[in-house]
Amino acid sequence: MAESTIENVVIIGSGPAGYTAAIYAARANLKPFMFEGYQVGGLPGGQLMTTTEVENFPGFPEGIQGPELMERMKAQALRWGAELVTEDVIQVDFRQRPFLISSAERQVRAHSVIIATGATAKRLGLPGEEQYWTKGVSACAICDGATPIFQGVELAVIGGGDSAAEEAVYLTKYGSHIHLLVRGDRMRASKAMQDRVLANPKITVHWHTEAIAIEGDGQLMQGLRVRNNLTQKEETLPVRGLFYAIGHTPNTQLFQGQIDLDPVGYILTPKGTETNVAGVYAAGDVQDHEYRQAVTAAGTGCMAALEAERWLSAQGLLHEFHQPTTEAAPKETAPAAKTPNLSESDPNAFDPTALKHRGSYALRKLFHDSDRLLMVKYVSPTCGPCHTLKPILNRVVEEFPEQMYLIEIDITEDTAIAEQAGVTSTPTIQLFKQKELVETIVGMKPKSQYRETIQKYVTKR
Ligand code: NDP
Repeated sequence: MAESTIENVVIIGSGPAGYTAAIYAARANLKPFMFEGYQVGGLPGGQLMTTTEVENFPGFPEGIQGPELMERMKAQALRWGAELVTEDVIQVDFRQRPFLISSAERQVRAHSVIIATGATAKRLGLPGEEQYWTKGVSACAICDGATPIFQGVELAVIGGGDSAAEEAVYLTKYGSHIHLLVRGDRMRASKAMQDRVLANPKITVHWHTEAIAIEGDGQLMQGLRVRNNLTQKEETLPVRGLFYAIGHTPNTQLFQGQIDLDPVGYILTPKGTETNVAGVYAAGDVQDHEYRQAVTAAGTGCMAALEAERWLSAQGLLHEFHQPTTEAAPKETAPAAKTPNLSESDPNAFDPTALKHRGSYALRKLFHDSDRLLMVKYVSPTCGPCHTLKPILNRVVEEFPEQMYLIEIDITEDTAIAEQAGVTSTPTIQLFKQKELVETIVGMKPKSQYRETIQKYVTKR
């Protein structure tokens, strides 16, 4: 395990709060070290990775896709010299100084810490939820809405906030009709979002309605049992998909017993972003249960970086790392738009010597002509986890250049293939050995799991 020198500041979490803190701290020559996170508490990039259009972030009059906004913030942090690792922090120790922050792969010591771990979507734990998870039940309409099982069928969303409203409207692109279940007599979504929902003929709002059970045929979800909490009348909605949008829980399990939390688990920051431990700051949704906006998270991220800098300076702990001065000097940062050797569906673009491919033509060709291990990755353009997984998986498959192929299938372009493959959620990975499906991996897993799975099949002949 790697142990580094003492950092000025470690940032834990990578939503708008974390990236903004990284931009400010890097520009203050603090060379911040960021644990972006990987799985715990959601995706690197945070909740905006599972949002579509962000229409209220200042500076984007036409709106911007949530994942793109996060990629831009990340690029800006990298440009100014922030160091980022896509790892989950598994332990912190704020009782010793410098503080100790550990992931599975390294231990980092730091004089100050900025916590920006955000919040995670809640679930209801309904009967049938475990059985039909990813087989109809999802916590992310934006990630999973485009999968074939949701095309042209009735769907349900639970919740009355902006997330529920946004997801209901988004799902009208795919479902035949959307049932929005609101437990009370009003929605707490913004008026603009409510208007969009109420004006949409493909959405029915069921007021005073609670879900009580998920029903299915053993394979896929087939219906949702609901109850009107005024009349107690029960019925089954014939929906094939259910999406939760019922709020969030702060990601503070790591910090319990180390810093002061409120009874719900939010970090207490009575003054600015300071916590009760000198040198530890909190920014974004992990300390804000009131505003919870990308712009307020970014604002508190900025505050945390400024407060950390002042504190380090006052304590005489600040160690400056100077930036290159010329315009040309900042690091190359923007994430590569596309892997250059990816073959397109176009037969003319197919390159049999490439390791990574894209589209149904490459899949068919390699499936029939090659005896290498085939890893087929099903993704959709709005799927945040797919964005995160891409560079990770690319690096893993590059360890096996002569032994396998990676083929990416966009389920919105190659719907029939996704349907045939039984894809119900993205990302889904399928491994084929000598034309036989040997493994399916749904969702994002630790890097080591992909490597070990590949190893299992490339060594076995
Ligand atoms: P919210 O906390 O705003 O809303 C949660 C909703 O879920 C409420 O309607 C609540 O009902 C309902 N709910 C909670 N628990 C249950 C339950 N057990 N059963 C049924 N319903 C339940 O969360 P959101 O994720 O919608 O929004 C979080 C924040 O993010 C907000 O500030 C929002 O404005 C912002 N946001 C902004 C977006 C944008 O600008 N594009 C998009 C999405 C979110 P009740 O009202 O009865 O308590």
